[in-house]
Amino acid sequence: MKVHVITDMEGVSGIVKWQQTSGGDPMYEEGRRLYTEEINAAVRGAKAAGATEIVVMDCHGAGGAWSFNSLVHDLLDPDCEYVVQEEWTAYTGFLESGCDAALFVGMHAMNGAQFGVLNHTVSGQEWQNLWFNGTLVGETGINAALCGTWGVPVLLVTGDRATCEEATELLGAGLRTVAVKEGLGRYSARQIPAVRARQMIEEGAKRSLQDLGAVQPYDPGSPCTIEVEYKVSSAVDKLRRVPAVEVVDSRRIRTTADTWWQAWQQFFFFD
Ligand SMILES: [Zn+2]
Repeated sequence: MKVHVITDMEGVSGIVKWQQTSGGDPMYEEGRRLYTEEINAAVRGAKAAGATEIVVMDCHGAGGAWSFNSLVHDLLDPDCEYVVQEEWTAYTGFLESGCDAALFVGMHAMNGAQFGVLNHTVSGQEWQNLWFNGTLVGETGINAALCGTWGVPVLLVTGDRATCEEATELLGAGLRTVAVKEGLGRYSARQIPAVRARQMIEEGAKRSLQDLGAVQPYDPGSPCTIEVEYKVSSAVDKLRRVPAVEVVDSRRIRTTADTWWQAWQQFFFFD
């Protein structure tokens, strides 16, 4: 069984402030250890469920050379392998090779989500809203669509309660979730301590892999229209000359293709 562990940092127990997720900040060094240990918990759970190949992919933009490179290398479970990608959604090799399931660890809720700790979508500075064929989604939706492109179901999502609810609404009741904190606001939460959160994630990962058919691979539909509302007009300026991108207004673009993945590639990598 091949399992892709796809991860972000904001949904980790103990993390409630941007400084804990920003490379170079004194608080980041503890944050990345907390992050790596939650991933290890998912890896242990996957192993216990019979996974024979586990690849971890860090999707956290920590800034500079820390982006997608936040894992503490010599703390990672020796039974996984891991990818440092150059750009978010750039690495698809393991999915393409034929993967049985994906587990999402440390996810955060979409921009504007009430009680979503560190909520944002892609970029806290630039992105306001994102729709796939009219459905408002956050980063769980993006990663799930990426997995779905190669027929891979998402069986587990961990993060705060708002993230778990967002994921269940999008992916269905068959999804297993582990809420490691309950947001009180964007920068505050009632939390489960890291050690117990890891136990819950390990157990969640193990149980989720016992039924590979519990969740259907996510497909936003075909044809697929992706629409983005930005916070700033400069984000649209950068896309103005991209052929497949339709500028809707000063802060909004739209692009359509046969599949979600084609539509995504038509605008996301241009900036
Ligand atoms: Zn992140």
